[in-house]
Amino acid sequence: MMPRVRNLLIVANWKMNTTPADAAALASAIAAATIEPLVQRVICPPFVSLAAVARALAGTDVGVGAQNVHAEVSGAYTGEIAASMLTGLASWCLVGHSERRRDQAETDELIGRKLVRCRETGLRPILCVGERLDEREADRAEETVRRQLEGALGVAAGGQGIDPDLVVAYEPVWAIGTGRSARGADAAAMAETIRESCAGLGMPDAERLTVLYGGSVTSSSIGEFLAEPSIDGALVGGASLRVDEMAAIVARAALTASARADASDG
Ligand code: PEP
Repeated sequence: MMPRVRNLLIVANWKMNTTPADAAALASAIAAATIEPLVQRVICPPFVSLAAVARALAGTDVGVGAQNVHAEVSGAYTGEIAASMLTGLASWCLVGHSERRRDQAETDELIGRKLVRCRETGLRPILCVGERLDEREADRAEETVRRQLEGALGVAAGGQGIDPDLVVAYEPVWAIGTGRSARGADAAAMAETIRESCAGLGMPDAERLTVLYGGSVTSSSIGEFLAEPSIDGALVGGASLRVDEMAAIVARAALTASARADASDG
């Protein structure tokens, strides 16, 4: 499947780091250091920092994302956050991050219901999928990712079809926070598998689906992934807490974006 030109997207996942005051300062510094019109940037701080980050980024073109959302609309779920509560604070939302699959035992079915909540409230979902090391070593990486997509998107699609705004982040679990990233060619092959799966699940125009790579991305490794035309950007964890790293990652993405735009014009 030959991809048409898609926008480049760099998403920062700050995980459980930063206080609201730290987060506002860091977000402002990243916005100032990454002014690149061809690259969409999104910062996902902890819930309690969303308001401070949204204020800090007002007037910039850097988006704000939540790291999670609850699968129910409202109710007796102490300590949880519903999608409707994010209105005005976040426009994007990570769903199904592997740390939540691992630590909160999130299933594909639950993740699918979270995607439904995102769609109802207009949050743009970034669905995270990826295999564990034992699954890759058993040559079951593709099967695992297909199963995760079918499980989550099968639920999410019920009635309405797959959200046309969906973004998928391919994040091999063994690469997250380990300093060991996938090879660009492997990630690119998986990106194509993801688009094929989504097409098979009824997503219209699945070749336009934005697919990110995530897993120990730094300014040194981003080039290997963006050299692959099927990869549209990155979900960045640890390195996204550093302004210099984010500036270099986004600058590299801007080079790719203009090269891809030139290639599609020519
Ligand atoms: C992530 O949080 O999704 C991630 C990929 O983290 P890291 O870049 O630290 O591996």
